[in-house]
Amino acid sequence: MKASALLLCLLLSLGAAAQFQDSLSAPNLFIITIDGLRWQEIFHGADEAILKEGGYVADTTLIREMYWSNDQEERRRRLTPFLWNVIAHKGQIYGNRDYGNKMNVSNRYKFSYPGYNEIFTGYADTRFIPNTPVLNENTNVLEYLNKQKGYQHKVAAFSSWNIFPFILNEKRSCIPVNSGYESLDDTDPMSQMIDSVQEAIGNKAHTRYDELTFISAREYIRKRHPKVALVAFGEADEFAHHGQYDRYLRSIANTDRMIAELWYEVQSDPFYRNNTTFLITTDHGRGRRTRTWTDHLFLIGGSREIWMAVMGPGISPLGEMKTDQVLYQKQIAATIARLLGQQFECEHKVGQCIDLPGIAPEISGGIALDRQ
Ligand SMILES: [Zn+2]
Repeated sequence: MKASALLLCLLLSLGAAAQFQDSLSAPNLFIITIDGLRWQEIFHGADEAILKEGGYVADTTLIREMYWSNDQEERRRRLTPFLWNVIAHKGQIYGNRDYGNKMNVSNRYKFSYPGYNEIFTGYADTRFIPNTPVLNENTNVLEYLNKQKGYQHKVAAFSSWNIFPFILNEKRSCIPVNSGYESLDDTDPMSQMIDSVQEAIGNKAHTRYDELTFISAREYIRKRHPKVALVAFGEADEFAHHGQYDRYLRSIANTDRMIAELWYEVQSDPFYRNNTTFLITTDHGRGRRTRTWTDHLFLIGGSREIWMAVMGPGISPLGEMKTDQVLYQKQIAATIARLLGQQFECEHKVGQCIDLPGIAPEISGGIALDRQ
């Protein structure tokens, strides 16, 4: 080996060691959102009444073979196996209203922009902001984290929906937000391959294929090792709005598989292993009925009903939460910060951090955050 190559190897291994040290010194967090995925599919699996309705499924026999079982626990496991085989054994799942365990959206609108605003700013803004490219004035927890010691320049976001750079105010927050069909713009062959696939997609819609969002995020995560990463999936909501229950179910199953791959990736990488938490949630619910499940808005009953799953070091393996309680979407931002030992404060009110049972005392702290 030439001296220069030896030096390069030494520098690279020192870099890797520094990265590893970094990982040990401060925990990592992946936030995963799945747009408009109902708690009903999470906890009940495929919905019999919607399957029977006829118009929502192209091949009912096949979809039933894939996702149906008369046993509810088996049925939901068929749809989201990673959630019920792994997260239910290692983490906590909130929002099963059958047990009175509720999680609600606080904002009055119950659609995506206000929902993601509430998740990331901890603030249920009363201003009406439609699902359009409007720069969000509210400070979000990702940009807050990006300014904290150990997390500077180590926060990144990937989304299928192309409005995220505005919701997270990429311009102001300085967090890289790879969104819609935005390219990775990197020189390595894998990134270039992903970019060329994206370029080849005709009729680009405002929501990128979730698979492309996933592989873009995975590539970045492998290479850059962000300590906080958002992966925001969007297809489920699109299929639901189109009344395609079969494609909605397949999208949910696909997303579960991608989350499983991401967890495997994380657990097999020394930088992340045993020091990374996954927090998974949704921006809004949808209608409860066979006629209304396709949509969500303040007038459609069920639109405020959401869920959340969390798994990682210090989180007690309580699985499906059955305690009678009501949690709110606006509490997620402070919870994200707390999982990293931080306290989220900014110019607006922030919902109280969720008291996750079993979280290590040094993380859960004792700081009163209830300011609204
Ligand atoms: Zn929607």
